[in-house]
Parts: sequence; structure tokens; C-alpha cells
Amino acid sequence: MVLDKSAAEPVAAAGEAVVIPVVMAGSAADWPLGGEAGRVLGHEFVGVVERVEQPGAEPGFKHALVGQRVVASVSVSCGACELCRKGLGPHCRGRKMLGLPGAGGRDGCFADRVVVPTRNLHVVPAGLSDEVAVFAEPVASALHAKACFRPEGRPYITVLGESAMGLLVVQVMARLNASVRLVGTDPARLSLCDRWGVKQRALAEVGLRGDQDVVIECTGTARGLSTALGMVRPRGRIILKQAFTGGGAGESVPENVDLSPAIASEVEIIGSRCGNIADALAALARGEVDISPLVARRGRLAEGAALLAGVRGGYQSVLLAA
Ligand SMILES: [Zn+2]
Repeated sequence: MVLDKSAAEPVAAAGEAVVIPVVMAGSAADWPLGGEAGRVLGHEFVGVVERVEQPGAEPGFKHALVGQRVVASVSVSCGACELCRKGLGPHCRGRKMLGLPGAGGRDGCFADRVVVPTRNLHVVPAGLSDEVAVFAEPVASALHAKACFRPEGRPYITVLGESAMGLLVVQVMARLNASVRLVGTDPARLSLCDRWGVKQRALAEVGLRGDQDVVIECTGTARGLSTALGMVRPRGRIILKQAFTGGGAGESVPENVDLSPAIASEVEIIGSRCGNIADALAALARGEVDISPLVARRGRLAEGAALLAGVRGGYQSVLLAA
């Protein structure tokens, strides 16, 4: 559900920028059934900064960001709580997520204008197209999985699940000195790995041998976590990279997972969320991540909800022009 708030003049507080979205990306998760009253959704966008709210600025002073092409990190922190002061801004207790419904969100990008604190904005490098840069946020999240472990020797790494995140993470991991494979169930999506020179295997052909140093769970399902527990070696590590949205009704609740193997084998299970947008823009500018498999359809913002019909949640996005 696209909420059209374009008639309202956006209100920017001090230190916030008004940005005109040019290209936006959305997945099924951005259009929850029935919509969310009072909230503009969407958080993946490239936009141009129209103005920056700077109380006390000299008349005629132009902020350096005005006119720049930017992307945004989605987590808007307060800058004042004890976690922010410790440098843990993404975990701020008062954080608001761009385009997220509910109390933890603030208005997102599916509108004529979006208001974002300047500290959340990152200038897109010249030469990087809007249609690639728009995926900086999920690429940053994929890159962040690398920060969750220190490779020793030449580790065996399994990326589990051919979701959009799985496809990004496997490309990132393939650049490490490691034996990396993507394991999933959709032959067409698994075969994308051939293009990148990365190993891929069908889940049905892979034994749960407890021999992987690191398993990165990208299915977002309880079953995926159970499978990861069967694949990881004793004292190995499971990284949960995909939110538990589930593969369908009844599969979204991790309480269905028997965690006793994690105890018996002393497995580390850690969560991983957002990453560094600047790093993602740099990786995209160097051509290190192919985002083309993420794009299912293209259209205009006004057609967004209709375009998403039939797009698999968590697997592909629709690219929307303003
Ligand atoms: Zn804070």
C-alpha cells in the first residue's frame, strides 16, 4: 500500500534534509497487507537533496549536501542515549527506522519527498547508477556478515538460502580466502552462482555433516536454523542474517527449533543486521556485487503495490521511478 502524503509539506527538524526520491526499491515486505495507516513506507532509495534545515545559518548559505545524489542508512538514532554515546547508534534505544510501520518507524521514501537526518545520508559516487546504488542498504547488510567472524585458515562457509540476502552474502563471502557455497532449493536462482564463479548445491543433495566452520542463515525460517545447526561444526558459528519472517504460516516462530545441538556442540549463534552504507557504495562502485538478480520488475511509484503482486517476499524487488 503506497501512502500518498505528497500533498503535505515535509517538516524537517534541525540537521535534517528534505530529499526528493528519484529511484526507489521495494519488496513485498514494504507493502504489508492492508497497509499501515499514517506511515509512508519504503527505505531503499536514491534521491537528490533539496534543502537542509539549518537554524541560524547565514542567508544564502548552501549546505554541501544540497543538490547531491544520496542514499540513506535506515536506522535513525537519537545521538544521546547511552548506546549512542558508546558508538552503538544502530542499536539506539530510541531509534526509528525509515519506512517501517508502527511505533518504531518514521516516514519513508514512497512519496514525493522524504526527510532524513544529514548524518544518515551518504553521497553516491559519480559513475554509480541510481539503479545499482539503490541497493546500498541490503549490500551493507550483506557486507556486515563479514564482520561477524574472523576467518582462520581457509574456512568452509555455507550460505543457506537463495533469498535476495543470500545472493548478496554469497558474493561477499566469495571474496574471502574461504571455501564458499550457496545451498538452496531453487535451481534457477542457485545457478546465478555459476555466473559469479561460486559453488552452489541443492539442499536435498547436501548432507548435514556438521563440518562447516560458518553457516550464514539467509532463509529467515525456523527450518533454516535447524538445517544450519546440522551443518555447522562443533564450536562453529551460525550467523542469522535474515529476519525471521518465515516461509509461510507456522514457520516464522524460531521456538520450533531444537537448540540442543547448539549446546552439545557449543555452537555460537549470532545475529547480524545493518552495515556500513559507505562501504557498500564503495563495493558497488568497484563492481564487486551483482545486484541484477534482485530486480524483478520496473515501474513508477504510483504502480508500486500492483507491481509487487506475484513478487516473492524476501526474494526480489521492484524498482520504482518517481
Ligand atoms: Zn540513542
